[in-house]
Formats: sequence, C-alpha cells, structure tokens
Amino acid sequence: MAGEPQDDCLFCKIVGGRIPATVVRETATTVAFRDINPQAPSHVLVIPKVHHPDAASLAAAEPAILADVVRETGEVASDEQLDSYRVVFNTGSGAGQTVFHAHAHVLGGRGMQWPPG
Ligand code: 5GP
Repeated sequence: MAGEPQDDCLFCKIVGGRIPATVVRETATTVAFRDINPQAPSHVLVIPKVHHPDAASLAAAEPAILADVVRETGEVASDEQLDSYRVVFNTGSGAGQTVFHAHAHVLGGRGMQWPPG
C-alpha cells in the first residue's frame, strides 16, 4: 500500500534503524542523513519517513510531506552553513536515481556547474 514501509527498500531500513546512517536532522515526518558517497563537501539526503518511489509520487499522494522534505533541505543548508547549495530530486534511472524511495539531495560547499551532467 502506498506510503507503507517496504521490506526491500534501503531507505525504509534507515528510517526503521535497521541500517545505520549518520543522521543530522529528524522530524516527525522526515530524516536527513549524510550520503555514503558524497559528491560535495556537504552532501545530505532528506527523505520522508513514508515510502513513495519518487518525489512526484510523494507530491501526488502526500503533498504536505513533500513540503516538509523541502523545508528540511533549507534547515540542513542552514545547519551546514551553506550560502549556496543545490537541491536535486533524481527521478528515474535515466536521471541517475538508484534508490526508489523519494529523497532530496542537498549539495554544497563547492562551486556548481550549470547545466548539470
Ligand atoms: P539517487 O542516485 O537515487 O538519486 O541517490 C541515492 C543516494 O543514496 C546516492 O547518492 C548514494 O550514494 C546514497 N546511498 C546509497 N546507499 C546508501 C547507504 O547505505 N547509506 C547512505 N547514507 N547513503 C546511501
């Protein structure tokens, strides 16, 4: 059922404490933790505790929780003292999504190029 924890989902396991992560923030609806393979000096993932496969699915099913995720990206950036940063929702394998539990990447601490690769 949409939103329910999935046994085979890596990020549901992190939410449930079954896989360790370096958690930097937690709210009633979200968890933020450091990416295991950082692509910038600050690289934090913000995820909803509920399971939806991507940000658009989360927006359609539980828009208030997507708003919580986006708000938390700003809180992470503030905590990390990032003046400039990038928020990325990779959506679909062709765009680089590898974990199919909605998540925002917060990347900062270095210069960024546009367009992204
Ligand atoms: P995606 O490629 O789906 O947009 O992002 C998934 C992210 O999850 C990747 O940046 C990857 O490094 C990160 N990741 C994958 N496995 C783990 C893990 O076990 N722990 C943490 N903290 N990050 C992970």
